[in-house]
Amino acid sequence: MALLIKNGTVINADQTLKADVLCDNGKIVAVGPDLDAPANAEVVDAAGQYVMPGGIDPHTHMQLPFMGTVASEDFYTGTRAGLAGGTTMIIDFVIPSPQQPLMEAYATWREWASRAVSDYSFHVAVTWWDDSVHEDMGRLVKEEGVNSFKHFMAYKNAIMAEDETLVNSFNRCLELGAMPTVHAENGELVYHLQQKLIAQGLTGPESHPQSRPSEVEGEAANRAIRIAQALGVPLYLVHVSCKEALNEIARARQEGQRVYGEVLAGHLEIDDSVYQNEDWGFAAAHVMSPPFRPKEHQAALWKGLQGGTLQTTATDHCCFCAEQKAMGKDNFSMIPNGTAGVEDRLMILWDSGVNTGRLTMNEFVAVTSANTAQIFNIYPQKGRIVEGADADIVIWDPTLEKTISAKTHHQNVDFNIFEGRTVKGAPSHTISHGKVVYANGELFVEEGAGRYIKRPSFSSPFTAQKRFNEVNAPSAVNRD
Ligand SMILES: [Zn+2]
Repeated sequence: MALLIKNGTVINADQTLKADVLCDNGKIVAVGPDLDAPANAEVVDAAGQYVMPGGIDPHTHMQLPFMGTVASEDFYTGTRAGLAGGTTMIIDFVIPSPQQPLMEAYATWREWASRAVSDYSFHVAVTWWDDSVHEDMGRLVKEEGVNSFKHFMAYKNAIMAEDETLVNSFNRCLELGAMPTVHAENGELVYHLQQKLIAQGLTGPESHPQSRPSEVEGEAANRAIRIAQALGVPLYLVHVSCKEALNEIARARQEGQRVYGEVLAGHLEIDDSVYQNEDWGFAAAHVMSPPFRPKEHQAALWKGLQGGTLQTTATDHCCFCAEQKAMGKDNFSMIPNGTAGVEDRLMILWDSGVNTGRLTMNEFVAVTSANTAQIFNIYPQKGRIVEGADADIVIWDPTLEKTISAKTHHQNVDFNIFEGRTVKGAPSHTISHGKVVYANGELFVEEGAGRYIKRPSFSSPFTAQKRFNEVNAPSAVNRD
């Protein structure tokens, strides 16, 4: 059935226009003034509202097996919560155990994700290295539409990628036209600091940020950026949380390197005082890595987003309930790392970004949707309101006030890091594949309706980078 969105204002990253939007067969088929409704079309009146591309969260972990437990949010509940907040697509992570074949892990995650109610895609983590990994990366890119590979520089004795793996995998990414991404924290240093704190009897969650100070992230960010530079491959850094990492990205970009940075809604909004809370459960609920930082880092991250050093926003949505967090009751390093947010990101970014004047509405669309679609090569299928694009749309009511709470959210977790926060501006409707799946507080989802989205390998950022490397090779440049 066709769907006509009437009387709204369309907001794309590069334009604002008064236009109706007609959807049919899952696609946007017309954008223009005063469109006529076809026979039997459902009509949504968006007068006074903004019609924007649905949010894309490039960093979630639904039902992730991690630190001896499994994240409480699965692909059904997690994508459902996303839709309630205007996010119509997630990019989650396949994370093979060390020595596990990549294709095997990929098949497992695809099976889990078949219950999703919105569209989804996968980054695949490279946690170890041998020839089979090299081969499977090729299959994933050429046959499965995976165009990005994740590397954890932290989590020693688990999924940490050593430099050998980083170098081999980044180089393989270059051959394949795939984007390497990194979780930048020096895992060796984290391990050392954790042991030291525990030996001193400092076992509570207040020690978590002390075991992962911002130097730990700055060092790893710089190392990953320099490895990418030496190999001539672009790089994407997930959850940039501190000035040190931000400065490395800014420097690299100023020097002409193609480096992208992602920031989490949580890192923009929450500071490290949460770890000092005398309620153990409250402090533990905020344990994630990288940790929440002192306030000056938040200010720097906002400026990084405004200034274009950071291009995307995400959540690292990875939910653990109170009894799971309690696994680290006697040792903070055993607290499952993760916080939620897939439902809240757009509202937080709008309220703290657009309502404060830090971001224009167009910039809001860029950092919540369009830039991710471009960087991960699915634009304008996603990330734009335009004829021919997927009909994944959020209708945004700038006057709607909401107070975020674990009591009312749709996320399958008993805690919300934005608890009590009142925001102005929220979705009135979310549309997925041209169907209204959320309207005025009610969800109308169908298990398994989400589709796996293939992301083709890159050509332009890679050929551009190769050309730049050739032209700027030391032999070709006069250096003083
Ligand atoms: Zn993550």
